[in-house]
This record gives sequence, C-alpha cells and structure tokens, in this order.
Amino acid sequence: MKTAAFIDFQGTIGGKGTDDITSLDLFPFSGKAIRRLNDNDILVIGITNQSHISKGELSWDAYYKKLNFLKKELHLQKARFDAVYCCPHTRNDRCNCKKPLTGMIDSACSVFDIDLKNSYVIGDMGMSDMVLANNIGAMGILVLTGVGKGSLHEYRHTWKDVEPYYIAENLYCAVEKIMDDIKNRETPV
Ligand SMILES: [Mg+2]
Ligand SMILES: [Zn+2]
Repeated sequence: MKTAAFIDFQGTIGGKGTDDITSLDLFPFSGKAIRRLNDNDILVIGITNQSHISKGELSWDAYYKKLNFLKKELHLQKARFDAVYCCPHTRNDRCNCKKPLTGMIDSACSVFDIDLKNSYVIGDMGMSDMVLANNIGAMGILVLTGVGKGSLHEYRHTWKDVEPYYIAENLYCAVEKIMDDIKNRETPV
C-alpha cells in the first residue's frame, strides 16, 4: 500500500484560493515540493472543487486547457500529478464528490492501492480540506497560503470539530513535514 498526498489546487499549489482555476499561477516552490513527493514514491493526487463549472462560469474545455498547462509547467520542473480529480458541482447538485465529501478519494482508491491512515490531505480551506482529511481518516495539513490564514482564524468556526494534523506555512513546508514523518516511520525508536 502506498502513501498518498491529496493536494488541493487554488490557494495550495498557487493562486488566491477563492477564484477559479484559470487565474491560478503556480507558487515558485510548488514544482519542487511535488517533485520531492514524486522522488520519494508518494502518490501525488490533485483534488479540486470547481463549482464554477456547474454554475456555467467555467467550461470543461477551459478547465482542461488550464490543467494541461499546469501539468506542462510541472513537467518542466520534473514534477507530476499521478492523477487529478475534479468536482464540478455546487452543493445543490447533491453529488458525493464535493470536498469535504469523499467521492474523489473513493475514485482514487479504486485505481491506486492507498494506505489512507498514512496519507495526507494538503489544502488551504479547513471546512473542505481538513474536514475531508478527517472524513477519510487521513492527516490534514493546513497551508497558510490562499485562504489558509482566514480559515484558521475568522472562519475557524466553520470546521470547529476538526483539528488539523499540522499547520504549514506553504506546500513546500507541508512536504518537509511529510518527509520527516516518513523518516521517523522507517526508523522507529
Ligand atoms: Mg483551496
Ligand atoms: Zn461533485
């Protein structure tokens, strides 16, 4: 079984966290962080809520165009997503994939052999990303980029029943924490 890092898009790999994917520019450290996971045999799985699609504000075509652009940019830095899952729905669509619901993780687990309790959800929004981590029994790492700071303070009440496993300045620091954990797992004291 493999460890996976389920990584949010907006606000986590780039962008501000609230806007749709088309305005997302990768943070300067995102390629390096993802490559480090790739090099250490950790599955890197993108999980993104894109309700702009259901609302008719973003086309699938524009979504895939941007996704392919991001993949190319990562490829130039020798980094890759092993898979990317997207929920296009709004709450009213009553789907089972909009984070913090677990549909995207269920899909990933039907393709890859994932050890969820030794896996991570990394994201900037407590009420979707950290609650999702809790729902699947994985470790949630809240990043303080995107809406992370607001989520930790003004909006803490929206996910008050859940504690993040770790709070990281950004995606790169989150990956450093994962590397530390894995080192400790391999050499028990
Ligand atoms: Mg986000
Ligand atoms: Zn959905």
